[in-house]
Amino acid sequence: MEGAPPPVRSSSVGEQLLSVGKAKAVHRLHPWSLNVNNSLLAAHIAIDEDADSQIILGKATKLLRSKFSFSSITIEVEYFKTSAAR
Ligand SMILES: [Zn+2]
Repeated sequence: MEGAPPPVRSSSVGEQLLSVGKAKAVHRLHPWSLNVNNSLLAAHIAIDEDADSQIILGKATKLLRSKFSFSSITIEVEYFKTSAAR
């Protein structure tokens, strides 16, 4: 497809998110491209109970912006439970 924006690979986005601090799991990962200049991302990150959600959120947002140039990032941080919440 000529002229189409490069597809955002959700697998690599997920890997980046998991590399942030105490992230344990990523789900509802939903990247998409509006056009060449605008890509959006929505995701949930599950973190360790002793992790600081604001710090994780800040790091994840900064990382994704610099690596993937998302123009809008919506991340929900939730605490990881072994019974895997959704
Ligand atoms: Zn969730």
